[in-house]
Amino acid sequence: MASTLTDRLSRLVKTMRGQARITESNVQDMLREVRMALLEADVALPVVRDFINRVKDKALGQEVIGSLNPGQVLVSIVHKELAATMGEGVADLNLATQPPAVILMAGLQGAGKTTTTAKLAKHLIEKRKKKVLTVSADVYRPAAIEQLKTVTRQAGGEWFASTPDQKPRDIALAALDHAKRHYFDVLLVDTAGRLAIDEALMAEIRDLHAAIKPVETLFVVDAMQGQDAINTAKAFKDALPLTGIVLTKLDGDSRGGAAMSVRQITGAPIKFAGVSEKIDGLEVFDADRHAGRVLG
Ligand code: GDP
Repeated sequence: MASTLTDRLSRLVKTMRGQARITESNVQDMLREVRMALLEADVALPVVRDFINRVKDKALGQEVIGSLNPGQVLVSIVHKELAATMGEGVADLNLATQPPAVILMAGLQGAGKTTTTAKLAKHLIEKRKKKVLTVSADVYRPAAIEQLKTVTRQAGGEWFASTPDQKPRDIALAALDHAKRHYFDVLLVDTAGRLAIDEALMAEIRDLHAAIKPVETLFVVDAMQGQDAINTAKAFKDALPLTGIVLTKLDGDSRGGAAMSVRQITGAPIKFAGVSEKIDGLEVFDADRHAGRVLG
């Protein structure tokens, strides 16, 4: 197993014992280790660079107190800065609107949109006592519509039927109309993904967004995507006013650096983390805990 950042920094600071503050000359080597740790966690390079600069400003001149050595002080600064970078914003869903509150799910195919839609339905039903309707606007994969039906049932929500010959916008508007007439509190709209970003997909989801005016537009992203997450995040951020992020597959063995890249690129808060394939495998994102994982 790779040694943790704390171990590696402790090795470096052996020569620095007795120093009372972090100085320009000793911070460089330590920051190189921090940079490596973040890259190993798959944080995207430009994001790492920005981060290192911020940490450097904070670290320089920092006094080393008590029994702490400069390495431990730096780890603590890095940890705090990571948590602050990933942890701003509201954690839970914003439903402050005239019901039904519409939530649009966006992301690449395989990111976990359909699974997350059902997980959110369950969360809203059980934790916030809401009446929830789901609908799939994925007209390219009939199996996706059926999948949503199955998982919505498991979640205890209701599902609105759609067919592949309909336009995504028409499906969503019909579901919205149904939700209004039957007094649903929340409508979750699952959308089509592609294996990679393409303009047609983005135009479609923009159109969908304009038609249903969601109160939440959630970007669902696979934590295992690592470095690529940055490009996906950029494309979705340019297409849509994202209000939150769901980071899926955090039960995998990635160090979850994608969280930081995606947070920085979109500016949107990470609201939830997917932690299993199961319908109850959703947690409110905990930035502090995640910072520890990223650092290793
Ligand atoms: P979509 O194409 O974006 O709708 O993705 P799906 O919801 O169909 O999910 C793709 C795959 O990822 C499925 O096999 C899901 O079971 C799996 N999946 C989704 N979220 C998680 C998660 O948080 N952890 C794990 N381990 N698997 C997940």
